Amino acid sequence: MKPLIAPLLLPWFDQYGRKHLPWQQQVSGYRVWLSEIMLQQTQVTTVIPYFQRFIESFPTVNDLANAELDQVLQHWAGLGYYARARNLHKAAQRVRDQHEGEFPTTLEHLIDLPGVGRSTAGAIMSLAYQQPAAILDGNVKRVLARVYQVDGWPGQTQTLNRLWQIAEQQTPRRRSAAYNQAMMDLGATLCSRSKPDCAACPLQQMCQSYRDGTQADFPYSKPKQARPQRHTWMLLHHDDASILLQRRPAQGIWGGLWSLPEITSLEQLPDWQQNQFGRSQPSQRIVENELKHVFTHFELSISLAEVVVDADFIRNSPLQVAEGDGLRWVKLQELPALGMPAAVTRLLRSRKLLATVD
Ligand code: SF4
Repeated sequence: MKPLIAPLLLPWFDQYGRKHLPWQQQVSGYRVWLSEIMLQQTQVTTVIPYFQRFIESFPTVNDLANAELDQVLQHWAGLGYYARARNLHKAAQRVRDQHEGEFPTTLEHLIDLPGVGRSTAGAIMSLAYQQPAAILDGNVKRVLARVYQVDGWPGQTQTLNRLWQIAEQQTPRRRSAAYNQAMMDLGATLCSRSKPDCAACPLQQMCQSYRDGTQADFPYSKPKQARPQRHTWMLLHHDDASILLQRRPAQGIWGGLWSLPEITSLEQLPDWQQNQFGRSQPSQRIVENELKHVFTHFELSISLAEVVVDADFIRNSPLQVAEGDGLRWVKLQELPALGMPAAVTRLLRSRKLLATVD
């Protein structure tokens, strides 16, 4: 049998848990729902005065349903995430119109209300109606992910399903309200995101993260989005003394810097050379994906085609430079004085041109 959380957690809750919050008094589905929606993105201390003002102005769900949306938004001002307030108003109207003003008492009807997900519905079922429904808000996810070392980011379905499975298994049939409140309290206080106070935690003896010292690894953070990949061919035409560079347009990446001319595929090389030199010259060295350069929004993979020419080629193949092309044969000794992207500098350093660039 798996170790159970409740026998360890409930004595701690009886001693340290929060039992005097305004929505824990005169408990009703309406009051618990209101508090749960307010608490979704906001801390308890911030929520308390808002909750009290709300209940004073809209003591019942019908009062909320009959209020103007503007009035509701005005009471919400400062709590942020205003979709919550709009959903609150819509949900109250649905309770008035479809449930004769009686706040729903089944999980199914609760989940049907705008802005109410599975965890919020579970919280209402347990906190308001003493039913053994599981919850899985951000705090509970963190506690369970650490206690069981649940791999994966909780935003992924597989991870979320695993966490729900544990939450369902652990939620006791008796005292589910105290248990759920205790889990939320534990996550908000001792099992905090950055510095969990494991020494004071009632779950220490069964916590796998405590045992292995992996608290910081759980829950997994959201995976960083892979940057889009782009690719370019850079053309390195040079002889012993000169190199062909092209000034980049003022706008865009590496704006205004001197770089190597680029093409998008190697097949374009002969045409490109015909256009620029009036003749073509085969490449002596081709290195695919020679270099990767990471920009904020994408990653550029640079392949290189090196074309070694001679002085005769340069002399007899004057550049057909169009206005604004920015193409120019540059003496190697001039390179240090030119602004060049770091990636191009690295490419040149990886060739014999290195010493000249330094
Ligand atoms: S022992 Fe530490 S990491 Fe584990 S549940 Fe308690 S506070 Fe969280």
